[in-house]
Amino acid sequence: MSQATNERGLLMVYTGNGKGKTTAALGQALRAIGHGRKVCVVQFMKGSKNYGELQAAAMLVPNLVIVQSGLETFVDSHHPAQIDIDLARRGLEVARNAAASGEYQLIILDEINVALDFHLLALEEVIQFIREKPPRLDLILTGRRAAPEIVGLADLVSEIVEIKHHYTAGVEAREGIEF
Ligand code: ATP
Ligand code: MG
Repeated sequence: MSQATNERGLLMVYTGNGKGKTTAALGQALRAIGHGRKVCVVQFMKGSKNYGELQAAAMLVPNLVIVQSGLETFVDSHHPAQIDIDLARRGLEVARNAAASGEYQLIILDEINVALDFHLLALEEVIQFIREKPPRLDLILTGRRAAPEIVGLADLVSEIVEIKHHYTAGVEAREGIEF
């Protein structure tokens, strides 16, 4: 057993308005997998099968399991539908089961900060998940507007600042870049 597996798991957060949060988390996943680890990604508020990472995982990376728990359509931040809430809760349940299974060394909760910001999930539930996770499990939470309580609990928080984004020049979301 490597030394790393005996160490306390880390809580890492990628937040901010700049592009690169989800892809940073996927980069960490690739790094962990290269060392023989298994990674579970739960994508909150995402349901499109058109994300390149889904295809890449299916084709190339058996130790990368990605579960989507959202609709393909955008969530109305002020009036989320019951289905959005139900799917977010199901996503957290998937994460709980993945953590309890002991199969994974890293779990990524992609866009969970946004799901919290939209009140699809209760902050207390997510904090409880963090507190009760297996001690060695690494966790990554992504998404804009990370809750101060999550930031307080985290070992690492990187805020990705938007200095420029091609979107503002009218370049639309592009295959292989945005999805
Ligand atoms: P990435 O998934 O590329 O790492 P991210 O996770 O940091 O980005 P999110 O805030 O989750 O970014 O946004 C999802 C995707 O939408 C990103 O690829 C980003 O470039 C794109 N995006 C961000 N802001 C806008 C916008 N205003 N209009 C269109 N696309 C946007
Ligand atoms: Mg993202």
